[in-house]
Amino acid sequence: MASTLRRTWAEIDLDALAHNYQTLRRLTAGAKFLGVVKADAYGHGAIQVSRVLKELGADYLAVSSIDEAVELRDNDIDMPILILGHTPKEQVGKLIDYHITQAVTCQAKALEYSREALRHGGTLTVHIKVDTGMSRLGYLCDEEHFGHNVDDICAACHLPGLAVEGIFTHFAVSDEPDGESVRYTKRQFALFCQVIDAVEARLGRRIALRHCANTGAVACYPETYLDMVRPGLLLYGYGDFAQKLGLRPVMTLKTTVSTIKTYAPGTSVSYGRIFTTDRTTRMGVVPYGYADGFFRSLSNRCRMMTADGPAPQRGRICMDMCMIDLTDLPNIDVGDEVEVFGPHNSLNELAALAGTIPYELTCAVSRRVLRIYQRNGEETERELMLRF
Ligand SMILES: *Cc1c(COP(=O)(O)O)cnc(C)c1O
Repeated sequence: MASTLRRTWAEIDLDALAHNYQTLRRLTAGAKFLGVVKADAYGHGAIQVSRVLKELGADYLAVSSIDEAVELRDNDIDMPILILGHTPKEQVGKLIDYHITQAVTCQAKALEYSREALRHGGTLTVHIKVDTGMSRLGYLCDEEHFGHNVDDICAACHLPGLAVEGIFTHFAVSDEPDGESVRYTKRQFALFCQVIDAVEARLGRRIALRHCANTGAVACYPETYLDMVRPGLLLYGYGDFAQKLGLRPVMTLKTTVSTIKTYAPGTSVSYGRIFTTDRTTRMGVVPYGYADGFFRSLSNRCRMMTADGPAPQRGRICMDMCMIDLTDLPNIDVGDEVEVFGPHNSLNELAALAGTIPYELTCAVSRRVLRIYQRNGEETERELMLRF
């Protein structure tokens, strides 16, 4: 393992995470706070991120599957955890034993979960998912289905073996600034409120946790905070909203120059020969390729940041490495650090170049990239995520 240590690694700045959390907490004061830590906390490490959120007083966590939830429980994360996706009915007993909250996305699932909870003996805590326009999971509550699905939701609230603690919906375009997206988001929110009102009036009680504010809504629609906010990306400090709110990127992806060679003009570089030197070129090789989470589509189109300035990436990005042009950076030598993305080389810009969003790039950082955790400026833990 020693050989991996200073090759390519991701520094995870837990102080930045704490700063982001506290900033968001102030912004959303009055609402409870659910931190979304699905997909291994967007590639940052769900256990480490959850520990910090727990310590700072977050109220809830959300993951996408039972495996992700159980991993947290097995690592002493005892706060409430909501599974946003579906759980097979065979595992309902496990949900109950581990005190994990399950999203209920339709009536068939509600009935199935109720039956399994009764069979197991115990009560499953659930949050009802309402589809207000995302057209993914949830009880569809458009005009045509409103009455019928409000009936179903109320029926689900009375099913034995289920305790309905929350109700939530998800926005499709809360992060888009154009007028049509704003109208759509407001319509989704209004519909969600109508569903809540209808259900609560019928039940004669208030549902404790009504939530819908993801990153876009936390940044742009304070009226949607309700009982609890539910951001992911903002916590990790990426995207335009994070910048505007003064949040800090949590992950810095670093690699090192492993070798440097000088090529004559007219030399083609890497697979496909898509780059040819037009001058005497000092070319470095860095061990960061698409198997580490880089995007091959960025080949010949991006840059990495050295201590002396940006180095253009040249030629096809390979599985395990790629080339950077150091001709104009004569003092950069073998062994020097290079930032792939982080405070000096924006992930937002890299994502835009790749035609994607920051989420995809941090989620893509693969398991063979060592994570180094830092707190108060000091390294607290390092983990190679090759767990089996
Ligand atoms: C992923 C997810 C979130 C968090 O989204 P961000 O855009 O990262 O804030 C919130 N709610 C649900 C249902 C999700 O799937």
